[in-house]
Amino acid sequence: MTKYDNNLIKKLPSIFSNFDRLADILNQISDGIYITDPDRKILFWNLAAEKITGYRQEDVLGKYCADNILAHTDMAGNKLCGEDLCPLHKTMHENQKPGSPLKVKAKHRDGGRVVVEVSFTPLYSPEKEIIGGLEIFRDVSESVELEEQKARFFSSLSHELKTPLANMQGYLELILAKDAGPLNEVQEEFLKTVYEQEQKLSAIIEDLLDMGHFESTDFSYEKNLLDLSEVLNNVARSFYAMALKKGLDFKYDLAPGLTLLGDRERLTQAFNNLLGNAIKYTEKGTIELNAGYDRESGEIVVKVSDSGIGIPEDDQKAIFEMFYRVENPGTRSQGGTGVGLYVVDRIIKRHDGRIHLESTNGAGSTFTVYLPGSPDGGKES
Ligand code: ADP
Repeated sequence: MTKYDNNLIKKLPSIFSNFDRLADILNQISDGIYITDPDRKILFWNLAAEKITGYRQEDVLGKYCADNILAHTDMAGNKLCGEDLCPLHKTMHENQKPGSPLKVKAKHRDGGRVVVEVSFTPLYSPEKEIIGGLEIFRDVSESVELEEQKARFFSSLSHELKTPLANMQGYLELILAKDAGPLNEVQEEFLKTVYEQEQKLSAIIEDLLDMGHFESTDFSYEKNLLDLSEVLNNVARSFYAMALKKGLDFKYDLAPGLTLLGDRERLTQAFNNLLGNAIKYTEKGTIELNAGYDRESGEIVVKVSDSGIGIPEDDQKAIFEMFYRVENPGTRSQGGTGVGLYVVDRIIKRHDGRIHLESTNGAGSTFTVYLPGSPDGGKES
């Protein structure tokens, strides 16, 4: 329980019972703050809110924030205004927990857009009735622009590298298929090594492309009704041979008809990354892929398990961060960029899902993905 200074507490009622004094304080704060009534009519708008959005108090007081004033959208441009979408409305009237700050785009008075990081909180009367909502926002346009520039740079660099590499791969394949004439044993062996290294380089370029893509604020995904069991089946089949080639057992048990609203390509990519890692970081034993439905939570549950090198406890928290790799010989010998799990995390979160890791160093890992969905939904549209 927090201990407050009693002397300070005694002075506070005079501030809170006198709105002008409170407004003076809120006007000195560098974050934008506005207060609305339960219908989102704007009752207070501080000076930082004026500075960030260009709208002056007289432009907005008494108006509804949904009246095309801020015209909030998410980073992909989807509207957030309207009762069924507005996070402030949801925190006030649908008991939705305020949660962590949200990045949104807001309209500037000059017609441009500012990117703000927003927190919402409902305001209650002493009788616990909703009397309004408070929004605090911070201008993050500059840092978002920098991130986007970085993402664009990586994306164009990766594209530039991809084309010559694809060319090299094509010619190497032709030479190895002896379409350009016979090869002696040494030449063939050397060329196979070149080919393997080229493939590794291509995988790194793919990761960089992904990173650029997922860092871009335009990142969006399709929402189609799709059969996740079928997606997982295809993923399992595509990895089966790779696991056997490495001498691993590969078991999979997928409940049929698991259905959700999602992006087929992205979800395939997420499970490809998880299964690819399971095989990559396992030298002996078994890889397992299981999928089913938890009726209690209403979630599809997908488990990817391996009996591989495991992930030390200290590393587990950071494992989904971009570029994070465990520093040990088992990981180092495999190569990689540390982008794969970051991409998985982004994709699953964009599907309103979550991912949980259980791992014992040296004894294998299980990644469990929970996704909202149904056990026997309709056909893919
Ligand atoms: P990459 O494999 O390219 O390094 P990832 O983002 O896919 O990048 O994974 C991040 C790190 O997490 C890896 O470097 C590795 O240390 C660890 N890791 C991921 N999956 C597994 C796994 N199944 N078993 C052991 N370690 C793993």
